[in-house]
Amino acid sequence: MGKVAVGAAVVCAAAACAVAVLVVRRRMRTTGRRARAEEVLRVLEERCATPIGKLREVADDMTAEMVAGLQAEGASKLKMLVSYVDNLPTGDEKGLFYALDLGGTNFRVLRVQLGGKEGRVLKQEYEEVSIPPHLMVGSSNELFDFIAAALAKFVASEGEDFHLPQGRHRELGFTFSFPVKQSSIASGILIKWTKGFCIDETVGEDVVAELTKAMERQGLDMKVAALVNDTIGTLAGGRYDDSDVIAAVILGTGTNAAYVERAQAIPKLNVVPKSGEMVINMEWGNFWSPHLPMTDYDKALDFDSLNPGEQIYEKLISGMYLGEILRRVLLRMAKEASLFGDIVPSKLEIPFVLRTPHMSAMHHDASPDLKVVGTKLKEVLGIPNTSWKTRKLVVNVCDVIAKRGARIAAAGIYGILKKLGRDTAPTDTASKRRTVIAMDGGLYEHYAIFSKWLQSTLRELLGEEASASVVVKLANDGSGIGAALLAASHSQYLKLQES
Ligand code: ADP
Ligand code: MG
Repeated sequence: MGKVAVGAAVVCAAAACAVAVLVVRRRMRTTGRRARAEEVLRVLEERCATPIGKLREVADDMTAEMVAGLQAEGASKLKMLVSYVDNLPTGDEKGLFYALDLGGTNFRVLRVQLGGKEGRVLKQEYEEVSIPPHLMVGSSNELFDFIAAALAKFVASEGEDFHLPQGRHRELGFTFSFPVKQSSIASGILIKWTKGFCIDETVGEDVVAELTKAMERQGLDMKVAALVNDTIGTLAGGRYDDSDVIAAVILGTGTNAAYVERAQAIPKLNVVPKSGEMVINMEWGNFWSPHLPMTDYDKALDFDSLNPGEQIYEKLISGMYLGEILRRVLLRMAKEASLFGDIVPSKLEIPFVLRTPHMSAMHHDASPDLKVVGTKLKEVLGIPNTSWKTRKLVVNVCDVIAKRGARIAAAGIYGILKKLGRDTAPTDTASKRRTVIAMDGGLYEHYAIFSKWLQSTLRELLGEEASASVVVKLANDGSGIGAALLAASHSQYLKLQES
């Protein structure tokens, strides 16, 4: 071999050696980064742990707060609002009823022809209308005129399948999912607007009176028979489908629960319901207990929120926040462990950029190379070319956050069952008592891993024997038809017949 050739071989070997060193170094760096990211995950897992004993403590606190909230106004973080719904649909309801569902940027109008026990829902129709943004921050009259005009147009399209007996007004159930203080079934004063609405002059006014005046201005002969929120609507719709429904839970953007309470167990009640029962709107999103597993991520999320210190339970379990918690954990992994490379991806710094449906899509990714996770990281956060191990780590973070949320939501439901004495198997062996909880909301409906965790945790808390009589059931569109059913069960004509 000539000198030149030997020299070239040496250079080549040296180059190969250098490349190998670089590769090994990079691999070591990557391994080091992953180890640090895994440590972040390990700490998260530890702080989010929900052993059964802790869940029992959370449930006991829920029960205790329920009792306190029923005692007196302001006695608990749980408002335990009296809904004035003292009878739920039985299935006997007959006739034509309307519903209006206002709770966000869209509202729905619906009509239903009820045929009693035999006929059930003979026919129903609905329409969805979006509210022009300027009306959400304009004047009260403009907003209610717009809604009443849409309702009048919808009424005008009523076909021959719908029948209103001679001399009767049309009656409406009004689902209004903003904080109101009710004083009867068909009146309620707006406490404050939320969800992007801001019309100062409506605050402190009776929203039923506002709607009624607007309907009159439209020449629409219709009476509001019931004012409810979406959770009460779900409870009513659930009860109509299944007479064993005793509570409703919404897990959507936000979360709330409502249930049927004995009037005697409500010291603050200022009316005597004939039925001896009253539906309570818990406003459970505001629940708090020292046993809730809170992390630094949750505390920072709460601190940065529009309502710090409020809705803590909601911030741990609802669809608005799960994706945001995930973003905060991934951001820490990016900053402390350079999980996504030397530079922290700028999109990862944007609050609420990662939504719960993105999280759920990644969490459910069953492909061998976790393709969906890769695509979401790229499309939503601008992080290209992630390795399988990085993707897997992201899925593990989703798992910790969703599992904690679902398990403490189950503990809340268990707390309600304890309050009602339904946490144990029916004592009378002949008793066929069932306890049904109607569930609704996009999170519960679409986040399958979350809802499975919720159900299995509730079974775990109840034990085998008691869980045999408890059913958790997805309600079909409770808040729409539920309000129409409540209009029927609180119809003024029904009341006239009774008296
Ligand atoms: P809202 O609570 O606003 O009345 P929904 O009950 O339809 O409306 O719930 C919508 C919420 O459900 C969304 O904000 C989101 O958090 C959650 N969600 C919707 N789709 C999914 C999904 N595929 N996976 C997980 N969560 C979802
Ligand atoms: Mg909803």
